[in-house]
Amino acid sequence: MPDLRKRGHLGADGSNILKAKRGINIKLKKRSVLRKVDRNREFAEVEALDNPAQENADYESLGAFVLPGDSIGATEEFRAGAQTYESAGSIYATATGTVKINNRDRTISVIPSTSTPPIIRKGDVVIGQVTGLRDSLVLVAIAGVRGITDREIPDMGPAVIHVSNIKKAYVKDISREFGLFDIVKARITDLTNMRLDTSENEMGVMKAFCSKCRAAMTKNSSKLVCPECKQVETRKTSTDYGTGII
Ligand SMILES: [Zn+2]
Repeated sequence: MPDLRKRGHLGADGSNILKAKRGINIKLKKRSVLRKVDRNREFAEVEALDNPAQENADYESLGAFVLPGDSIGATEEFRAGAQTYESAGSIYATATGTVKINNRDRTISVIPSTSTPPIIRKGDVVIGQVTGLRDSLVLVAIAGVRGITDREIPDMGPAVIHVSNIKKAYVKDISREFGLFDIVKARITDLTNMRLDTSENEMGVMKAFCSKCRAAMTKNSSKLVCPECKQVETRKTSTDYGTGII
């Protein structure tokens, strides 16, 4: 099994580790809450929260990323909270997640990683299904986000592709670019209003369904052909049409 605790602290560069280590030094001096902690388990990499408002709250701190069975503290110092159990003077995690210490009531608990919603950013690539077509809009139900495969994505409501964001060329008839139930790949351009864009070559319809018989259509040069009823249709297809590559 990979060392997830280590991985949890590694950013794209090394700066997070330094920050985390500085954080623990401050915490140790300030409160000595982690005196009894087993350093070998890297619990010592407790991060101080970057947000000053949170720091002012001053009674909750987040700790290491742990796996079930990891020792996270001693019973003489902490009370066992959610997702933990006590055994022979030690407190152990029962879930994969982030350690949380409440310095007010001395409770140590684990926030399960499955309950932490992934952070979705502007620029992320999503995969979704067309749920509606309007004169100037395509409605898309987002089903997944590129790079997030192990967790459920938060419910973001329907996303929208405006006619001007479908492709670089002028769109005369939106129904020639998308069809109901099509699977699309798109980039988030506005997180607040959940606006998507498919103008890049890689973005667009990944799988289209025949408007007559609902069979999955096959790409044949610039057109899509229904293998069942031979209906020919057009779409703003992704260069990855039919491959399933997200
Ligand atoms: Zn058909």
